[in-house]
Amino acid sequence: MAAAKIHVHEGDLPASVSFGSSVAVDSETLGLKPHRDRLCVVQLSAGDGSAHLVQLSQTGYDAPNLKALMADPGVLKIFHYARFDVAVIKHYLGVDTQPIYCTKIASKLARTYTDRHGLKDLTSELVGVELSKQQQSSDWAAARLSQQQQAYAASDVLHLHKLKDRLDAMLEREGRMHLAQAAFDFLRTRASLDLAGFEDDIFAH
Ligand code: MN
Repeated sequence: MAAAKIHVHEGDLPASVSFGSSVAVDSETLGLKPHRDRLCVVQLSAGDGSAHLVQLSQTGYDAPNLKALMADPGVLKIFHYARFDVAVIKHYLGVDTQPIYCTKIASKLARTYTDRHGLKDLTSELVGVELSKQQQSSDWAAARLSQQQQAYAASDVLHLHKLKDRLDAMLEREGRMHLAQAAFDFLRTRASLDLAGFEDDIFAH
């Protein structure tokens, strides 16, 4: 596979960058607790083999172009495990992300033959690309991201469009697209419940 073209931006996405009708999104933080672990990087891709990395924590969270993109009803935001990213983006950027697609939710509804719904597993099975998770735990607040960090951060968004295509076909085949859409629509509320301290399944007995 050809090396991805990676653009690194500080503080916000340049106004000149656009993604069309859908954008793959991921974020890197200092840990797994949104209230404690700040948002450091937001990665974006149009699904064209290139990625934009926006470094945020150095200069704060005044990122009007990025916020406008997240809230734009005409641009579908494709995540893997949107629940976490949407909560972090709401907490740090103060914006409600919409509309949302989540490849992990889609996988759980479509790939009932397995319990392996991680991005690495999905990308391997459905796209035939092996992702490295080596840089997952690294200092994302560093002023300069290493080449390895940049490549890792980009790899998390480069394949989400293809994954969505494959998963949509499976959801259609199994007649579960309406369930997936309803679950995607609930993700914004699910993220808000997490931020409000309701991490458990409130539908459970
Ligand atoms: Mn990631």
